[in-house]
Formats: sequence, structure tokens, C-alpha cells
Amino acid sequence: MSDIDLRACSLHELRESLENKQISSVELTQFFVDRIKLLDPQLNSVITPTMDLALKQAKQADQRIAHGDDSALLGIPILHKDIFCTEGVKTTCASKMLADFVSPYDATVVSALAKSGAITLGKTNMDEFAMGSSNETSHFGAVKNPWDLSRVPGGSSGGSASAVAAGLAPCATGTDTGGSIRQPAALCGITGLKPSYGRVSRYGMIAFASSMDQAGPMAKSAADCAQLLSAMAGHDPLDSTSAKLAVPDYATEIERPVAGLRIGVPQEFFDKQLSPAVADAIHTALRQLEAMGATLVDVKLPSTPLGVSTYYVIAPAEASANLARYDGVRFGYRCEAPQNLEDLYVRSRTEGFGEEVKRRILVGTFTLSAASYDQYFMKAQQVRRMIANEYDEVLANVDVIAGPSAPNTAFPLNDASKSITDMYMEDVFTVGCNLAGLPAMSIPAGIVEGLPVGMQLIGRSFDEATVLRVGHQFQLQTDWHRQVSRIAEFAS
Ligand code: GLN
Repeated sequence: MSDIDLRACSLHELRESLENKQISSVELTQFFVDRIKLLDPQLNSVITPTMDLALKQAKQADQRIAHGDDSALLGIPILHKDIFCTEGVKTTCASKMLADFVSPYDATVVSALAKSGAITLGKTNMDEFAMGSSNETSHFGAVKNPWDLSRVPGGSSGGSASAVAAGLAPCATGTDTGGSIRQPAALCGITGLKPSYGRVSRYGMIAFASSMDQAGPMAKSAADCAQLLSAMAGHDPLDSTSAKLAVPDYATEIERPVAGLRIGVPQEFFDKQLSPAVADAIHTALRQLEAMGATLVDVKLPSTPLGVSTYYVIAPAEASANLARYDGVRFGYRCEAPQNLEDLYVRSRTEGFGEEVKRRILVGTFTLSAASYDQYFMKAQQVRRMIANEYDEVLANVDVIAGPSAPNTAFPLNDASKSITDMYMEDVFTVGCNLAGLPAMSIPAGIVEGLPVGMQLIGRSFDEATVLRVGHQFQLQTDWHRQVSRIAEFAS
């Protein structure tokens, strides 16, 4: 086992090593358990490690391997974002409101991955209720970026991104309502896919904005994400918004070359919001795709600048409805000694929610109120349709759209110069896909001043296969995605 670099291995390589008995799942799991113990005190990327459970599952996986079981992820450890319900293990959503909540059932994503043989290493830190772009809104403290511990990992799936980047796990789950898989993947130099709305079940995934929330894989490469998506995707009778569509064989699809594909490059993704250094890196990556035989096509998505304001009306409106259930009565945090019912509601919610969550509930309640519904909520829904139509029109002529995932590389923690709206602008290139329900992935595509840059690939509805294929083919020709396994160890 000593000659395998377990931190750098792909999921496929790990499966082969398990299959060939070069390593056992218990040894593999112990390797990552040890790394969590050693490195996570500085990263803070894991809220609840489940080491005993993991080692127990690994032992069972070894028995299954010995009996010839070759399930796709058998024996491979994974971390779950703490937004997915896990039976018998705390699910906090990084909120004081759910700090002691233990779900009586598993989310479908969790049970599907377990069914494929994955081992649960623990639950990752995140922005509270998935609201944020820096992972600084967690009740359990900020997560740090392993590339530079003074910087943010992005959010809201920042714990998953930071953990995969630091090699605390070979892969993780995330969720993306407005960019929360892609932006942290970009800032941490890993690959993360937001599937089409409806591709992956939302059952047991704590709701933020139900018309946009999607679960997806985060790993070191597109090939790894393809393997994970195969296990996660598919219709679920427990989620009425999950699509009744066959799941393609992603492992085969990604092997097809990109020659002949048309890649749309929207000029609106390269405007003044984008840091010039990130723009240069993306242009270089696009030229690489061109050299591989793809055709770059200039396209227009003129409503791009409206995306953030549209999203920040719709997402808080849905959040205000979804979070109404945390009332101190049924489950979650309850204030001490309530005087009456009103006091119970008010103090439980005042004490249980953090500042950003309260801001969103207030904004959402306001935009849904009778006096402002037409002016804000209806208007936002109309603009949402306009944005979705623009993407559909462009994607009728190109196979994928490519551009940056985020306007900048990882920014400093506690950056006082960054206002709330500056933070919201982190989502400028990502929210369009959530509003339109499209699949999109961030892949590492360069390094600027020692920090990774992410390129975003956006596909047609339910065409994750082409998105993964372009990402995988790019990764066969470049090694930006491998840099993450080379970042310096920082344990003291
Ligand atoms: N950064 C966005 C927000 O704060 C996106 C969050 C997400 O995708 N969960 O709402």
C-alpha cells in the first residue's frame, strides 16, 4: 500500500486498488480518518466526523469485496455536506437552530451512495442553511482554504470543497442553489457539478430555495464526478420534482472526444466584474479546447447582469417559506422558558438563526407581502423566464457554454471591505443556471498568484453527459486538476 499516493488517486484507481487487494477499505478509510484528525483542526471543514461508523462500514465493504461484489463505489470514503439528513448522525445545516438535530432517516443521496458501497466519513461544514459564498456564516465557524489558510474556500459547500482539496476525503457531496458547488470548487481547485434541476433527488436535503436546490458531486476530476453522479442520479418516488428520465452511462459518454463540439462563449461573462487575471486563464483554457477540435462561438446572454437581483428576490422568498417550519415547536432549537406562544416563536427564531439567514427571511417575507408581491416577486419570476429562454436559445446552437465560474480567486477571510452585495456578486456567473435549471460544472483551469481558477461549463437541460465529457477531455490534456494534490501540507 505504501507505494500508492492515496491523496492523488482517482476514484477509479482507488476501486482498482481495492479490487486487486493492494489495499483494504479499512486501510483506505483509516488513511482519511488520520488526515481529518491531523489537518481539520486548522481547516474546520468537518462538523461531525463519523469515524467509528466509517470503519465499521469499511469492514463490511471489505467482506463484500472478498465475496466478489463490484459495486461502483464499494469501499470508497465520502464526506456529506451537513445539509443531507443522515439517520442517527447529527444534521445541523451549520445552524444553531439544528445544532442537535438527528434525523430519523437518510436523504436519498446518502442512501443511494451508501447502496453503491460508499463509506460515510462525516458531515462537512457549510454556510448556515446554505446561504453564503464564503463559508463564514456557519454557526460552527468559518472554513479555511487549504491553498492559503487566510482565505475563504467559497460557499456554501465550502467544507466539502476544502476537505476534498486538502485530501481529507477523495470526494464529497454538495448542494447548489445559486453556485454553492461551483464557486467553492473553483476557489479550492477541485471539480464540482451542479446537475439539472430534477436529475438528483432532493428528498432529505434540507430545503433552502426549493425551485433551485440541487445536489451534486465534488471531487478532483470530471471522471470522478461522473462516477458519483451515476450513483446519485435518477428518479425518486419520494421527490415529486425528480425527473422520470433514464440516467445515461456517464463513464462511456465522457470518453468521446470534443472535436466537432460547439462551445459558446458569452461576452457578458467577461465584463468588468471579472478579474483580468482570471479572464486570461479562462481564455487560455478556451484556446486549449479549440486546439482539441472544438469550435468556439461568440454568444450573447444579455440578461446576465439581472441574474443576481432576480435570484436574490426568488431565493429569499422561497427560503422564508421553507424556514417557517423552525418555530421552536416541532423540532430544532427552542428558547428557554417561553412566556407564551408568541414569545416562543420570536425568541426561538431570534436566538436560533444567524444574521444572514434572518436577513433572507426578512427580505423574502417582504417581497412576498401583498404590497410588494407584484413589484418584486412577480417581476423576478418574469425575468427568470427571460433568462431561461436566453440560455435555451443559445444552447440550441451550441453544445455547451463556457466561461469563468467566479469573478475572482479565493478572497481573504473576514474581508471588511467586502459588502453584503459584493458577496452576492460572487454568484454573478452561476445563478443563471439555477434560475434556468441547467447542469453546470466548475473545473480547475489555471492558477493565478498561487490560487486556483475555475472554468464553468454549462449544458443543455439534462445533458450532464456533454458537460462531463468536455471537462474530462480537457483534464486528459491538462493537469490543472492535479495541482490540488500537490498543495503543501500545513499541519503544525
Ligand atoms: N451564494 C449563494 C447564496 O448565498 C448560493 C448559495 C447556494 O448555492 N446554496 O444564496
